[in-house]
Amino acid sequence: MGPYHPECPDRLNAIGDRLISAGLDAYLRHYTAPMATHAQLARVHGREYLATIEAASPASGLHYIDPDTALCPHSLDAARHAAGALVLATDLVARGECMTAFCAVRPPGHHAERNRAMGFCLFNNVAVGAMHALSAHGIKRVAIIDFDVHHGNGTEDVFAGDSRVLMVSTFQHPLYPYSGTDNVAANMVNIPLAAGSGSHAFRTAVREHWLPALEAQQPEILYVSAGFDAHREDPLAGLKLTEADYAWVTRELVAVADRHARGRIVSTLEGGYSLSALGRSVTEHIRELLG
Ligand SMILES: [Zn+2]
Repeated sequence: MGPYHPECPDRLNAIGDRLISAGLDAYLRHYTAPMATHAQLARVHGREYLATIEAASPASGLHYIDPDTALCPHSLDAARHAAGALVLATDLVARGECMTAFCAVRPPGHHAERNRAMGFCLFNNVAVGAMHALSAHGIKRVAIIDFDVHHGNGTEDVFAGDSRVLMVSTFQHPLYPYSGTDNVAANMVNIPLAAGSGSHAFRTAVREHWLPALEAQQPEILYVSAGFDAHREDPLAGLKLTEADYAWVTRELVAVADRHARGRIVSTLEGGYSLSALGRSVTEHIRELLG
């Protein structure tokens, strides 16, 4: 995304280092993400949009889609692999080869709408995964849980009104992208939180809004848009979560998955820009996914 941009390669190094120092890495199986195919991306994005993004990929330097979102010569390939990670994770979890998966990918995806890149996001990775579950694995009910501090406007754009998919989220409001507070469809359970909110407000929203909706839907597989920028140390936003909150919410989701989805959870990295807090938070998330 260019120098000094918070969505930087060091984010993945911070996660990898912390998993090693916490002693968890030895318990993980690592996979290399394949590129998502054009057909897999086209389940989510319009063909004209895909052609526009491909044409925008520069031979050198940076091409800015908006002031936050740029392409370098390698971004398009990285974005194809990021979306492909969700396809592979879905295959592994749907076939029973893994019970849970975490996709350590960049760029993130949840701001990417059907026909618009924005907010550091080119392809909507979690949507590509969910569509793959619905299209290729005969799964009929999918839940997407988004605890990034920013509203997942892209995921809402793709799935609003699609009764096969339930989206539950919390996000700081008002904050970029300033969406999520309108009730656009019955399958969207978006809970805004005021700046300064912390553990109590977050856990109350999860207990009172997410969990009843998830129990009613009985998803066959859970997807997590796992952004960690609601952490109190994050420089881009003003919520006050800690690693303990990420561990708690992951345990709650594991319990839902155990009741309804044979334990199947595919989680993918969205935001999280304090490198130390990101590494610690992902480690606690993965510790709970491992069980
Ligand atoms: Zn975010």
